[in-house]
Amino acid sequence: MNEKRYYQKEIETMPREQLRALQSEKLVRQVRHVYDHVPYYRDLMDKKGVKPEDIRGVDDLHLLPFISKEDLRETYPTGMLAVPKADCVRIQSTSGTTGKRVIAYYTQKDLDLWEDCCARAIVAAGGSREDVVQVSYGYGLFTGGPGLNGGSHKVGSLTLPMSSGNTERQIQFMLDLGATILCCTPSYAAYIGETLKEMGYGPDDIPLKAGIFGAEPWTQEIRENIENTLGIKAYDIYGLTEISGPGVSFECEEQRGMHINEDHFIAEIIDPNTGEVLPEGTKGELVFTCLDKEAFPVLRYRTRDICVLSSEPCSCGRTHIRMQKPMGRSDDMMIIRGVNVFPSQIEAVLLKKGYSPNYMIEVDRKNNSDTLDVFVELTPEQFADTVREISAMERSLESAIHTMIGISPKVRLVAPKTIARSEGKAVRVVDKRKLHD
Ligand code: ADP
Ligand code: ZN
Repeated sequence: MNEKRYYQKEIETMPREQLRALQSEKLVRQVRHVYDHVPYYRDLMDKKGVKPEDIRGVDDLHLLPFISKEDLRETYPTGMLAVPKADCVRIQSTSGTTGKRVIAYYTQKDLDLWEDCCARAIVAAGGSREDVVQVSYGYGLFTGGPGLNGGSHKVGSLTLPMSSGNTERQIQFMLDLGATILCCTPSYAAYIGETLKEMGYGPDDIPLKAGIFGAEPWTQEIRENIENTLGIKAYDIYGLTEISGPGVSFECEEQRGMHINEDHFIAEIIDPNTGEVLPEGTKGELVFTCLDKEAFPVLRYRTRDICVLSSEPCSCGRTHIRMQKPMGRSDDMMIIRGVNVFPSQIEAVLLKKGYSPNYMIEVDRKNNSDTLDVFVELTPEQFADTVREISAMERSLESAIHTMIGISPKVRLVAPKTIARSEGKAVRVVDKRKLHD
């Protein structure tokens, strides 16, 4: 095993007791800062009968009120700002995947902290100043591009700010400039892999060694698909604009969950229905408290991401708690004929059965009953081979999906290149029921 590499060793490997003491100290300070500068949150605390002096450390965190995406939308655009606007140097916003965009403000210190988190992720994936990091997340208001760009600078890697799109040029630059680490959404990585093949290249023709992929849920099957087509090791990275951006947590070489940067963020798991804090190891909604952020310091922010935490020691030496990969948010979950279904479950079946990650799920209501249609694209090879067997293949997929989710879909295999590719966050579900309601 190579010598272990960290970006900020002392913090990343800090004994948990010491880390908790650090969190407590920061939390007390942060609650005071928010209470004094964010009238909206002060009102929430007053309504709950909690004063800043009641919070003496992490053990008192549960006394604080939650913040939800609705609160952030209500206070749009400056209602959560905790410093004068003149002290801010950047604005970013969410992708708006689930509704109106949320705006986040950053001071220079906030940017530094965020970029440090991204730098930890890059180093954990094997990055150093010798690397060329190709950032193919979108640049702009979306946090993906700017976050990894800043992290790559901090590591001292040569940064290639490609942004997303123009996929053939992505590959040409990767080859010409010797990119060794690729950062983008997993759906875009899969598309880059597909294009690489179409351009007549294989995984051995490109200099990439690792990829840092996140911003959307992805399955283990997609990971294997990307690792094979690009010939790399694929690392997961998680984050959200409300908390800073990508890099809230990241995978180490162990790849058993993502280490949360706990010196900056406290994570809790709650029951999404009752708000009750659940013991470690229980599945529930992830909630974050920002300890260091100045401009937009949300406390107990409900992410709607469903996952499990584990503080079991990790062989990489990092002591920070790990979160299991969220496989969809509570609001990505579809309820079809009364059954809870996550798109990722369907994706897992498709890839296991050798289909491409290009698919589309359509939910509708006909004659008072929910319908589930899954459109799956055939690869050119499958298309050439199997035209006559299509109907048998469709039945077989229907039965495999039924086994996985408990209800029967209608599967339609469609010709290559008929489903739109994603260059950012993939949109794979169309719920037409919402249009009728
Ligand atoms: P939006 O909420 O509009 O999509 P963001 O661009 O800030 O705004 O996206 C944050 C969300 O993206 C997270 O709350 C989570 O649902 C999802 N996400 C980010 N990284 C990952 C990841 N590695 N795995 C699964 N989901 C992720
Ligand atoms: Zn680890």
